[in-house]
Amino acid sequence: MTPLRAPALLALALSCCLLAPSATAAERSYRKLTLENGLRVVLASDPEVNESAASMAVGVGANADPEDAQGLAHFLEHMLFLANEKYPELNSYSEFLQAHGGFSNAYTAQDLTNFHFQVGHDALPEALDRFAQFFISPTLDYAYAQREVAAVNSEHQKNTMDDTWRLMQLTRSLLRPDHPANAFSTGNSETLAKVKEETLRAFFQAYYKPSNMTLAVLSRRGLDELEALVRERFAGIPAGEPKPWSCPADQLDEVEALRLIQVEPIKDLRQLRIFVDIPNQHPHALSKVATVVGMAMGDEGKGSLLSHLKKLGLATSLSAGAGGNRFYSSCSVTVGLTPAGVKRWREVAELCFAYFNLLREQPFPRYLWEEAKTLAELDDRYSPKPEGTNAVIALANNALSFGLDVAERVAVTFQEPKLEDYRELVAALEPKNALVFLVAKGVETDRSEPYYGTRYSLREEKGEAYERLREAKLPEGVRLPAPNPFIPKHTRLVPEQPVLLRQDPGVTLYYGQDLEFRRPKVSLHVRILSPAAYGTPRAAALTRLYAAMLQEQLNEFSYPALVAGLSTSLQPSRKGLVLTVSGYSESAFTLLAMVAKALRGPLDPEAFERVRLRALDGAKNFPLGQAYGYLSELARKLVVRVHVTPDELVPAYEAATLEDLDRHRTALFAKTHLQALCYGNLTAADARRAVKIVEEALGSEPLPASAAYEAEVLRLAPGEEVVFQREGHTDQNCLRIDYQVGPSDVRTRMSAELIGRALRNAFYTEMRTKQKLGYIVFSGSYNRKNVQNLVFLIQSGTHDPEDLRARAEACIASLPDLFASLPPAQFEAIRQSLIEDRKKKLKSIAEKAGFFFDAAFEKDGNFGWIEDEIAALRALEQKEVARLVQETVEGKTRLVFLLRAKGSAPFTKPDGVPDVAAFVKAHTYTAEKPGYALPDEGH
Ligand SMILES: [Zn+2]
Repeated sequence: MTPLRAPALLALALSCCLLAPSATAAERSYRKLTLENGLRVVLASDPEVNESAASMAVGVGANADPEDAQGLAHFLEHMLFLANEKYPELNSYSEFLQAHGGFSNAYTAQDLTNFHFQVGHDALPEALDRFAQFFISPTLDYAYAQREVAAVNSEHQKNTMDDTWRLMQLTRSLLRPDHPANAFSTGNSETLAKVKEETLRAFFQAYYKPSNMTLAVLSRRGLDELEALVRERFAGIPAGEPKPWSCPADQLDEVEALRLIQVEPIKDLRQLRIFVDIPNQHPHALSKVATVVGMAMGDEGKGSLLSHLKKLGLATSLSAGAGGNRFYSSCSVTVGLTPAGVKRWREVAELCFAYFNLLREQPFPRYLWEEAKTLAELDDRYSPKPEGTNAVIALANNALSFGLDVAERVAVTFQEPKLEDYRELVAALEPKNALVFLVAKGVETDRSEPYYGTRYSLREEKGEAYERLREAKLPEGVRLPAPNPFIPKHTRLVPEQPVLLRQDPGVTLYYGQDLEFRRPKVSLHVRILSPAAYGTPRAAALTRLYAAMLQEQLNEFSYPALVAGLSTSLQPSRKGLVLTVSGYSESAFTLLAMVAKALRGPLDPEAFERVRLRALDGAKNFPLGQAYGYLSELARKLVVRVHVTPDELVPAYEAATLEDLDRHRTALFAKTHLQALCYGNLTAADARRAVKIVEEALGSEPLPASAAYEAEVLRLAPGEEVVFQREGHTDQNCLRIDYQVGPSDVRTRMSAELIGRALRNAFYTEMRTKQKLGYIVFSGSYNRKNVQNLVFLIQSGTHDPEDLRARAEACIASLPDLFASLPPAQFEAIRQSLIEDRKKKLKSIAEKAGFFFDAAFEKDGNFGWIEDEIAALRALEQKEVARLVQETVEGKTRLVFLLRAKGSAPFTKPDGVPDVAAFVKAHTYTAEKPGYALPDEGH
């Protein structure tokens, strides 16, 4: 199932328990009960939720793994999915959930294991029954043990070249040798090879006791009904005493030295990371004293540590926070370094420790704690409540970690903080409790971490280097954050479907007033269309740099706004730039005016250099990411007539200067068309004013919307097959096949989606579960402009792409028969789940504004497109859909993309697209829009 949750060092902020989303609200009602077998249960009923969901937290995790069976807790998590006495058929659990529009997953953390699912309301009783059997009658059939070990191993293989995982494991390996966290918790085929059936069963018997488990269920159904469902299904988990276990709070021995770990990354990362072992925060987690450390140190405003490091040219980013689990805690700081910062890492480290010293010298910054409390309360009242698995995972974990009473209120609970708790915490922020990691290409290394092969060196510097950290002082001007002026002290409340308010050569403006959520919030979207934004790598690079640069410059004043629940972003796209501002009405217009003014404001040369460097690193590192992501980007070059890939951005980023950027901005804003949508708690006059603010700040000549960029998409001739082959940059192979199904009118689109959903499980089960080709296996449908596609994708570390292709094609060839023989009841269930998906309620003003913006400008102003799709789904007949599967698979109008691992054996057949430019010239591309505006088209 999903990889283990990243521990504190890499989570960057607070631990899962402290960040657990809030679930308190007037409309959501709760009931807590303890069954006779000791199982603790939280039930939540909410008439507004779109799906039912449940989660079981078990109070055992990887830290309880025996030394000679590392990964055992994770392996057991996988084995429990196989089958049980009541439902002996393999995979029937996930098939049942998928057929009812749901899914399931699980993860093994250090101190607990969480299982969860989500499903349509009607299917909840059976889903709960199947779920309960995990814990009542699992067969743990050892005939499948090797297969599951292989799944665990391929999960690990997927992580081996990922720097996040590598650093996490390296950190663990440096903890006290006798601490259970110093282990390899994912497991692989080596660590699990000798695990005996008795060991696995004994582990289950020891810890999977109802009194060591908490269940959470959230549904539209009433509490009485939920209680009856749960009592009946979960009473059968046999009672018994769980084996007691715990972990020591001390993760690191105190050493009076600077412990420097130099690490060679895979990607071109430059980071300084500080890991500090702090006293266990769990006993007073509900008073949240630790939140102020992250708030203070992670501040990005004026006078912050990051602002100072940027001025020195040493850093581009900084994050900090405390985290942990029931047994132990840590505090971590991650600084993104510039090349100069790598050379001067000692200065950066000293400044970080100087900040710790400042925290120790200053009184408890109670105003920061109050701000966190106010924001949590506002969030609880006005933000959309979490749903589905997100909601129940938090409920079950919180019930396990903090008790049934507070389970739904952990995020909003701010118990009166005790000063001695805070003092004890900041007293620990000393170099003797810390590990300092310097992560950069070319650092000195002399050894390898055994499970991931991470190259590193470890050095203990005593004497002066250590004393300098201990006594470090911050320069004048760096201080704790000032009180935040954007946090609202009072808020006031003011036609539902947007109306067209303005349409002239320079502006198209839609406006809608929220009548549903009744929150004092607005969401403003303005897309600045400009033909100069894209078209060449240079233009694309400069547009991106400009957007990133503006975001960077805005950071110092927008950071407090962000903390106060306002958000703003400026995103580059092929068409131009999209500016959004969302949050409390009172402050949103102030923020919009500040951002608009900055559009034409001065460009800071140092910010430019930081942004350029970051963009360059990102583009250079892109090929080293997941192989399927890289292949999809290469594929886009064929499929979209004008597309710029990250590879092509590299030279453009290398050459870009501040003068280029300034000239590009002049060109970008010479002629523009604004596409705007303002929605929420505002009047039509407010909406006009918002657009006027941007219009005046830009001062552009008006441009008709039709003169802006439209993507043109490849349309293959019927029966045409294109085979594209390349060598990748990682150890992964990848295959992607895109079948072009036909024009993307509403009926074809719905048929393709139905096919995608019906066949997803068959493809996945065959390719991933049975043939074990790799961890990432995907199939589905999508439309790009007026071209509808079915897509199949496999990424593999073990099978070469031609082999993947042969196996995938054999599987795909069997799909038409499989679809034709689908029982009508199952066809109906899939149709129904697609209809249910479309009926999902939008949960906030911002979500609704995003939906309306898309409908206004990408769906021809058809705000009722969802109803059109539902009508088309209702009208589909199984026979016509079956015919479409058959025509598609047999017609072979398709693109086959193959990516082989770096340095692997060459392809045996010649490449079909040796020259991409020539290919694009010779083919037909269409800019036709998909069928959204024509609800009455004939068939
Ligand atoms: Zn797993």
